[in-house]
Amino acid sequence: MARNLAPKCKQCRREGEKLFLKGEKCFTDKCAIERRNYPPGQHGQKKGRLSDYGGQLREKQKVKKIYGILEKQFRNIYKLADKERGITGDNLLQLLESRLDNVVYHMGFGSSRSEARQIVRHNSILVNGHKVNIPSYLVNVGDAVEIDKNAKNQLRIKSSIETANNRNFPSWIDVNVNEMKGIYKMKPERSDLPASINESLIIELYSK
Ligand code: SF4
Repeated sequence: MARNLAPKCKQCRREGEKLFLKGEKCFTDKCAIERRNYPPGQHGQKKGRLSDYGGQLREKQKVKKIYGILEKQFRNIYKLADKERGITGDNLLQLLESRLDNVVYHMGFGSSRSEARQIVRHNSILVNGHKVNIPSYLVNVGDAVEIDKNAKNQLRIKSSIETANNRNFPSWIDVNVNEMKGIYKMKPERSDLPASINESLIIELYSK
């Protein structure tokens, strides 16, 4: 499956903010945004004003990078969000948050979304007791997500859950750290999600 293979810290520098793509490093002063918060490349430090279209495009690129998905998948999620009742922007973010790789990340089973995706692909996740190895699988409210018994001894998973536990879990999921199991209790409210995302710019872009 196609993936964005660009260096992760450069992706953050391009967007001018932390996208938390590298797990623990993102919370330390080794983070590239802490050290060099300007776009990569020879002309990175030159400031230019973005057009409206440029701003919309950048916002879409940023959200795609945060959730680690490519254009086609992102557009399909937008179409789903547009068909659902309610505010399309909120629906879009909730659908992105319901992806299995994202839920696994928030439950602390992976230290970043890309690690969570790898854990899903490696058959280490059960949803309601059944193996699911599709990162884009949409988790429903009330679903139980857990680490398969064969993967429970993996050090990276153990250390990631420990770190997430110390940092507290988001309010929309319940995690039993000892059992390595969580429940997707509810869809997150818009106020639970990063304020730095301006989803209305993405909706404007796709509505053209
Ligand atoms: Fe982004 Fe994390 Fe790299 Fe910082 S350390 S630039 S937040 S990927």
